Amino acid sequence: MQKGFVQVYTGNGKGKTTAALGLALRAAGAGMRVFIAQFAKGMDYSELHAIRMLSGRITLRQYGAACFIDREPSETDIQLATHGFQDVQQAVRDGQYDLIILDEANIGTYYKLFSVEELLELIDARPAHVELVLTGRYADPRIIDRADLVTEMREIKHYYRQGVTARPGIEN
Ligand code: ATP
Ligand code: MG
Repeated sequence: MQKGFVQVYTGNGKGKTTAALGLALRAAGAGMRVFIAQFAKGMDYSELHAIRMLSGRITLRQYGAACFIDREPSETDIQLATHGFQDVQQAVRDGQYDLIILDEANIGTYYKLFSVEELLELIDARPAHVELVLTGRYADPRIIDRADLVTEMREIKHYYRQGVTARPGIEN
């Protein structure tokens, strides 16, 4: 089996989660077993429906309530993420997945839902073949340091500045 790398998609521009979902689609097409954990999210995103259409090739679990990318997490948010992180630790150690995406993992460390140390331990605990993707703005410098690939999505323009709110299929 090939060696897996650690990828980070961060920055304030649009495209982090969708890049990870695009990779999941590509990997599933290549027969890879894909696990997606969405932290800080519990809403009904359109990707959930698309993944259901893929008849089990991609597993997606959500470990959040409402999205709180711009507010402090509640006690419920913290509990959901703590449980989620344990679930993810199990999935990583099991070795049954080839691509593991921790969507908004950087938001998780930024808001202290779990620690950078725990995330670094998770990176080190994965079987050698596992490709790990961490998304979300505010990636911690220690995570960036540990990663093999880091892409920063930088906002140059965004229509939210024109007052456009999130649209089904495009933002959620
Ligand atoms: P996407 O899921 O579209 O790939 P992303 O993962 O890069 O985006 P996040 O930081 O997770 O971006 O933000 C979630 C969504 O909210 C994105 O679609 C983004 O375009 C949108 N967004 C980001 N900042 C703002 C803002 N200040 N006001 C409104 N919408 C925003
Ligand atoms: Mg995102």
